[in-house]
Amino acid sequence: MADFIEAYKEIRGAEKQVQLKHLSQVPGVYIPSLYEVTYESADGAIKSIEPIDKDIPALVQKQTYRGNTLSASTVVTEKAAWENIFMVEVVRSCPEMCRFCLASYLTLPFRSASLEGSLIPAIEKGLTVTKRLGLLGASVTQHPEFDSLLDYLNQQKYDDIRLSIASVRTNTVTEKLAKILSNRDTKSITIAVESGSDRLRKIINKKLENEEIIEAAVNAKAGGLKAIKFYGMVGLPGEEVEDLDATIEMMLALKKAAPGLRLSLGCSTFVPKSHTPFQWFGVNSQSEKRLKFLEKQLRSKGIDFRPESYKWSVIQGLISRGDRRLSNLLELVRNYGDSLGSYKRAFKELRGELPELDFYVFNDWELEQILPWNHIQGPLPITTLKKHLAEAMAIHNLEFRI
Ligand code: SF4
Repeated sequence: MADFIEAYKEIRGAEKQVQLKHLSQVPGVYIPSLYEVTYESADGAIKSIEPIDKDIPALVQKQTYRGNTLSASTVVTEKAAWENIFMVEVVRSCPEMCRFCLASYLTLPFRSASLEGSLIPAIEKGLTVTKRLGLLGASVTQHPEFDSLLDYLNQQKYDDIRLSIASVRTNTVTEKLAKILSNRDTKSITIAVESGSDRLRKIINKKLENEEIIEAAVNAKAGGLKAIKFYGMVGLPGEEVEDLDATIEMMLALKKAAPGLRLSLGCSTFVPKSHTPFQWFGVNSQSEKRLKFLEKQLRSKGIDFRPESYKWSVIQGLISRGDRRLSNLLELVRNYGDSLGSYKRAFKELRGELPELDFYVFNDWELEQILPWNHIQGPLPITTLKKHLAEAMAIHNLEFRI
């Protein structure tokens, strides 16, 4: 921000185009109008993305904050989405690098807030105005001093606070954690396991075994929690029907291992995200069928299954991999009433002016294809993303659709 303001001061009286060109020199500033995109054809792939003149950087550089003081709420109100909760950011990014995960890949490197210098002072201040505390981050329990943080929150003076945790890594669900949470009015925890198949978890780089998941459930119950919600996904690259069977088996094994604990499985559809090794894969069109299969199998065995809308995952995929041409479509959709049918109607109306829905959402993209975000630097170079993709593909000699 400081660099931006300094640069702005230098040209504040100049014409707009001069201002924009000058500001584009500040690392981290992206001015879309200074980049020209050409296409193979009106409804084809991107051919090139070039700056409009040679002084403009060809690659927009990412800026990364590397300090160890992270964010905390500045306003606590009952009118907030999470009412009256004081939130502290415990970690930023996630070191696990599951290959589909934007929350990890786009925000690397993993950083944690200093316990003494950032977290405890923030919590002390926050708890003077509310009794509800939320610990935020993609992977909160991976804070290197998480145990000390728990001990700090376990003090008697905090007996009446309500504690919520955004995310818990499965193998960090100890009885101690479960006890502290249940004593602090938390009834359930949520953990993302993605699948019950060890093979598929290797492909996506989720370093987790079924035994660890079962142990987490046993510990949660022993610590007094009443419920666990698992998160899974269908349509992940390399997924076979047998992997769905493995998920069903895992849920049944959990039911047996921790009787009385309420179990549910929330399940979404894999959607490709930019700057991840799986950005080249399309949404698997079998996903809807697979969600229905899991629903039928699990509900008949008394396990609560909560699928996310497949159709909205398709729209997510569209927005996730869309390029500039999508803006006209989104504008039409807005006027048509923002329903799923509106997207189809808008595609029909704009036929010939942009690629079909399938191109954006379902097709696997060529590795050489120019991506809509090619000119925006991510934390890792594209060669590294390709290497991670190749590692995934090499597991069990899988041949993906690419
Ligand atoms: S553990 Fe969760 S947050 Fe971390 S990379 Fe995997 S999916 Fe993303």
